[in-house]
Amino acid sequence: MLYREMEKTGDKLSILGFGCMRYPRKNGRIDFERTKKQIISAIDNGINYFDTAYMYPGSEEVLGKILSEGYREKVKIATKLLMIVIKTREDMDKMFEKQLKRLQTDYIDYYMLHSINLEQWENLKDNGLIEFIEEEQNKGRILNIGFSFHGNVFDFKKLVDDYDWDFCMIQYNYLDENYQAGKEGLDYASSKGLGIIAMEPLRGGMLVDKLPDSAKKIIENFHIKKTPAEWALRWLWDNPNINVVLSGMNREKDVAENIAIASNVQPNSLKDDEKEMINEVKEEFKNRIKIDCTACGYCLPCPHGVDIPMAFSSLNDKAIFGGMKSNIQYLMTTTENDSLASKCNECGICEKKCPQNIAIVEELKIANSDLEKWYLKIVLRIAKIFMPLF
Ligand code: SF4
Ligand code: SF4
Repeated sequence: MLYREMEKTGDKLSILGFGCMRYPRKNGRIDFERTKKQIISAIDNGINYFDTAYMYPGSEEVLGKILSEGYREKVKIATKLLMIVIKTREDMDKMFEKQLKRLQTDYIDYYMLHSINLEQWENLKDNGLIEFIEEEQNKGRILNIGFSFHGNVFDFKKLVDDYDWDFCMIQYNYLDENYQAGKEGLDYASSKGLGIIAMEPLRGGMLVDKLPDSAKKIIENFHIKKTPAEWALRWLWDNPNINVVLSGMNREKDVAENIAIASNVQPNSLKDDEKEMINEVKEEFKNRIKIDCTACGYCLPCPHGVDIPMAFSSLNDKAIFGGMKSNIQYLMTTTENDSLASKCNECGICEKKCPQNIAIVEELKIANSDLEKWYLKIVLRIAKIFMPLF
């Protein structure tokens, strides 16, 4: 296993992190014995970064139980405060205490505000959140503070600048260089000294199982033979500013394969023809893109608050990958920020500023009908009301 140092803390973290959001299951429940074997094998093979969250059902409890058997000091635990249900300082304290109990530990090495958006941060930072973070840091119960993020790069940069974060976690892979925080956000955060944790390295398996046939052929015909997963991981680790790549592993085969790759990949080692081959694969995806928005943000701010680049990147995402994941991610972010495409009143100000000459008003109508499904809005509203806090 190879390690990279966190600039602010000096921690040497394994470049492969274990994502604990999808443990193996048996009869509908977490298969504890199999999970335990995988986690111990991962630790024995050098993985020292384990990522969980309050909202992953059973994940913190299972990780805590396994690590309590003599492994706690060998690893760094990363977990997250569930922002969508937090309203008061008391909520933060209660949730954090519960997490320590679940994880059977006195401290959290890497603590994140889970999928935070600018609106939540602005609402809570002077309403107990900063006080909570700093008190727990002073008590030595939060060692490093960061956030995970799915919004646009502009909000991302504002968040980076607004607090003395140690690290952040962003969605990143070879398809997402210009999506959400993207490369621009990654470089920015890194230049400010934040450690970078990359999530979704395989786009939830899309860069492996759902590669278009034409993209698969490019990989198969390349003169160096590696799996699609290995190319995707190597592309990430080629970037020296990425500290940890998180993989949500739950098959022994994947744990072993990923460890083998992570033991043998140096930054800046991809050759020109390898990068070119990955770019060709990327082009095959790009051919499916619907709107040529570069997420430059020149169209912003919209007087009605519409997050135009977010709407278009989500539409493109849906066109490439299908399914409902893009809808849910889009609705979660824009509902909270009050920046839905449906808020557009067609004033046209944004269109005059778009260097790509995109028919923004018309495309937002499509975003409204394709992304803002009424039933998903209801499900999200209900989930928010009934999300168990304690
Ligand atoms: S046309 Fe719509 S999205 Fe564009 S600035 Fe006006 S209200 Fe905002
Ligand atoms: S100005 Fe045009 S290209 Fe830039 S983010 Fe807005 S819609 Fe996209």
